[in-house]
Amino acid sequence: MSAHLSERRRRGLMLLISSPSGAGKTSLSRRLVADHPELDLSISATTRAPRPGELDGREYHFVDRAAFDEMIAQDAFLEWANVHEHRYGSPRAPVMAALDAGRDVLFDIDWQGAGQITQRAPSDVVRVFILPPSMAELSRRLHARAQDAEDVIQRRLGRAYDEIAQWGTYDYVIVNEDYDQAYSDLAHIYHAERLRRARNAWLTPFVQELLDEKL
Ligand code: 5GP
Repeated sequence: MSAHLSERRRRGLMLLISSPSGAGKTSLSRRLVADHPELDLSISATTRAPRPGELDGREYHFVDRAAFDEMIAQDAFLEWANVHEHRYGSPRAPVMAALDAGRDVLFDIDWQGAGQITQRAPSDVVRVFILPPSMAELSRRLHARAQDAEDVIQRRLGRAYDEIAQWGTYDYVIVNEDYDQAYSDLAHIYHAERLRRARNAWLTPFVQELLDEKL
């Protein structure tokens, strides 16, 4: 086999997934990461309190406002934003380490964060927006989750309209009516994007070898 085929150096991509709360983005994201050893999840820092069942360092790094602002001052975030009266940000260091190693990184972030990362590295991002099949279904899912108080759910629903209005800035849109179908669509998007010519630097010397190979 050619040396290039065994090395296969490639450029890692950043998969940015956004949606209103309750559209299924978190469980789709976690499943994609679980199924792909070469894909890391970016664990955000947030100033909001943990929900029942959430663990520090697994769902989020739960920090107070002073610690968050210190991270901003240190330029430790790739992006950060105010969402639902709290601050959320993507720590820079683990993302850079993963990309340098040729790994991919998935971000479960809002449209403001997706916009910031896109501005910094437009050719390395793939943006996917997840839509609910209806607003009534979104409300039903938020209530079924039973993790938040009613006033928090109402605020999240209110914000959903603003979030959905951002759909036009994404590369792909998936309507999550059937969870398994939505997951299959997401996995296909990821697989195809990994194959893009520009992300596979090893192809240039490989093709040169093909052309140099005289029969
Ligand atoms: P939740 O509080 O429901 O976990 O998340 C609320 C919203 O914040 C979701 O839309 C989620 O995608 C977004 N979010 C989570 N982490 C980050 C982050 O690091 N940066 C940005 N910009 N948004 C985030």
